[in-house]
Amino acid sequence: MSVYRELGVEPIINACGSVTRLGGAPMPAEVLEAFHQGAQEWVPLEQLQAAASKKIAAQTGTEAGLVTSGAAGALTLGTAAILAGHNLRRIEQLPHCDEFPHEFIIAREQRSGYDHAIRAAGARLVEVGFNEIVSNAGVRRTEAWEYAAAITERTAGIVYVHAADSAPGLSEVVQVVHEHGLPVIVDAAGELPPRENLREIAATGADLVAFSGGKAIRGPQSTGLLCGKRNLISSAALQMLDMDDHYELWSPAEGLIDATQLKGLPRHGIGRALKVSKEEIIAVLTALDLFASGAYDAQNLEYRSWLEKVAEEVEIADVRASCYLVIPEDPQRWPILEIQVEDSDAFKVCRKLREGKPPIYVGHARLHEGILTINPLCLQAEQVSVLARRLCEELT
Ligand SMILES: *Cc1c(COP(=O)(O)O)cnc(C)c1O
Repeated sequence: MSVYRELGVEPIINACGSVTRLGGAPMPAEVLEAFHQGAQEWVPLEQLQAAASKKIAAQTGTEAGLVTSGAAGALTLGTAAILAGHNLRRIEQLPHCDEFPHEFIIAREQRSGYDHAIRAAGARLVEVGFNEIVSNAGVRRTEAWEYAAAITERTAGIVYVHAADSAPGLSEVVQVVHEHGLPVIVDAAGELPPRENLREIAATGADLVAFSGGKAIRGPQSTGLLCGKRNLISSAALQMLDMDDHYELWSPAEGLIDATQLKGLPRHGIGRALKVSKEEIIAVLTALDLFASGAYDAQNLEYRSWLEKVAEEVEIADVRASCYLVIPEDPQRWPILEIQVEDSDAFKVCRKLREGKPPIYVGHARLHEGILTINPLCLQAEQVSVLARRLCEELT
């Protein structure tokens, strides 16, 4: 009996990938084992985060790192670190920061619902630039000088959302902004694979980079990584960790927290609501090692055979749809099956699949083009034929 069904919640076939709404990425057996073992002993979380910091730093080529509650938690903590540093009064005041610089500059075209995590720390976003290609009004996108032109004495930092085609390039933005002595925090939540991005994004000189732990890394879906400059990670850790100790007894974890900058022990900071457990920390670090070693690549061949099987069944069923298997050149990326629905409404097919038994969730990003996408990441071998059958039924 499924533990979920026991609660009255019906498990689904997830053909949508590691989306948060459906429960994140599949955790490998090694990661689950690490979680299980991690639950059987106790360690001071500050020391554990200090060890995590070393590992994340080594895997990302940065000075320090922190395990966070998702990339979203990493963005809130990173913003809090930039806003407050080691200033005890500011740490206590967040998210109220009228008294000190708290504006973050962001390209208008990079705004999304995820930047709520930045604003949650107290930052106020100042938008620059346009994407005149998307608005069909011109040929240019945001340019680096626009960031520089917007800097005032109220500016605390710059937010940059990384995508393969982000414009302007991150290196250019970092260079321009560093001339003004301001830090850049990068949302790179979904920018893995390629695993080279673990290092290359921070190698631009960006001060802080946030990754999801529960997407391609395949750690617990509630985890994330923040990495970058030691001083900022120190502040982020201080504002996240539980601070219920005596100053006289506190021995700040070496390499993580720089207590020489502190005249007292701060109370719980804004990040206290973003805690991660020892089990989650161990699990995501295990997943990070697996991801970085390339251990997941071999599975992409199996994924391909699953999608070929689905495509074959849909094609021989003589339904009003055509299949297109997208096989990326990069062996780190898994294939995706696109199903172009011909006569019926793709939204309706998608809804019928969700309402069926078992419920099936397919990728819904391109329904407006009449395309259902099948992402194999969260499928299980025995679900492939069920998925193919249900697609044929709903497409007929
Ligand atoms: C997924 C995502 C996030 C949030 O990541 P979590 O790990 O779920 O908190 C933030 N920004 C972008 C661009 C994302 O794709």
